[in-house]
Amino acid sequence: MKTFNVYPLMPITPVKAQGSYLWDQHNKKYLDLYGGHAVISIGHSHPHYVKKITDQLNNLAFYSNSVQNPLQEELAFKLGELSGCNNYSLFLSNSGAEANENALKLASFHNGRKKVIAFNKSFHGRTSLAVAATNDTSIQAKVNEHEVIFLPLNDSQKFLDTINDSICAVIIEGIQGVGGINIPTIEFLNLLRKKCHEHGVVLILDEVQSGYGRSGKFFAHQYAFIEFDMITVAKGMGNGFPVAGTLIAPHFESKYGMLGTTFGGNHLACAASIAVLDVIKDENLIERSFEIGEKWMKHLKTLPGIKEVRGKGLMIGLEFEFPIADLKNALNNEFNILVGTASNKNIIRLLPALTVKQEDINLFNTALEQILLNQLKPV
Ligand code: PLP
Repeated sequence: MKTFNVYPLMPITPVKAQGSYLWDQHNKKYLDLYGGHAVISIGHSHPHYVKKITDQLNNLAFYSNSVQNPLQEELAFKLGELSGCNNYSLFLSNSGAEANENALKLASFHNGRKKVIAFNKSFHGRTSLAVAATNDTSIQAKVNEHEVIFLPLNDSQKFLDTINDSICAVIIEGIQGVGGINIPTIEFLNLLRKKCHEHGVVLILDEVQSGYGRSGKFFAHQYAFIEFDMITVAKGMGNGFPVAGTLIAPHFESKYGMLGTTFGGNHLACAASIAVLDVIKDENLIERSFEIGEKWMKHLKTLPGIKEVRGKGLMIGLEFEFPIADLKNALNNEFNILVGTASNKNIIRLLPALTVKQEDINLFNTALEQILLNQLKPV
């Protein structure tokens, strides 16, 4: 059987990883500043993480959700404590898409409505929202459970013109990742909160990419000091182990049969997720992410040839005046540095492990500067 190839892959086959580094089958070493779409939060193969998963494997390797699993309660407790969302409940699943689908389902159960507002350039996983967002009409579906309305981010007037009592939910990323590191303003988030409240609309915050300390706060939306009805998490939650969660505010009542899952929150996923929270707490990775990110962005803003540097913490976007394909290849092939792209072809995304060392950031800075200076040299 062959694989069904529908997304691009970086031209590297890692066989070993440690901290912020990967090694390929020829023992070539790469600095990983992308972490597999922001998945690597505490660094590759962190010893505490490896031990927790190994111990779990040796005890009870794997079980589906047909039995009691006290690790889920431990995970929920630690997540509540570190995120400050102790009063939310946690429903565990396996991927960001699932976490968002579950949030949308709960929203519909809650107010009996179907229309969802999302924002241009947003990405919420391969959900009905992604199907609605694609420009490819051959893919655009007839199968949407929810009717999706896309609005520009931070356009208060368009939002006010669209919000009404027929809307089921608004879903917004803490910081748009795939769309190119676009940040909702605090004023806009406050407006969403107020208007959703007035119209009985469920406000869902997708922190799948921007959560888990990446932004310099546990959740990126916490810069705005507002409460969301649901928050979704995945990616950095398991540091590579597939796990996701929907955090649900207290005014949603759980009833048997509302949601379900076979593997969500299994013993291994919980062990991995608990290890991640332990390390984030013990190594102060949230504060570290803020400080290192601020310093890094300040430096990046001094480099020639970058149109805009934007982000928070260690979720950084560099926008250039030109498509970055050659720049990315040069970083990859000449300097062995891996970075990410965005739907906008002029943007590089930096999403390193929150444990990334200053010396590794310096390596990147020097490489980028060298490439840019060469590129800008008159011929
Ligand atoms: N939400 C956001 C903000 C994402 O960036 C992604 C993935 O890139 C998802 C949801 C979907 O997550 P998954 O690929 O685990 O389904």
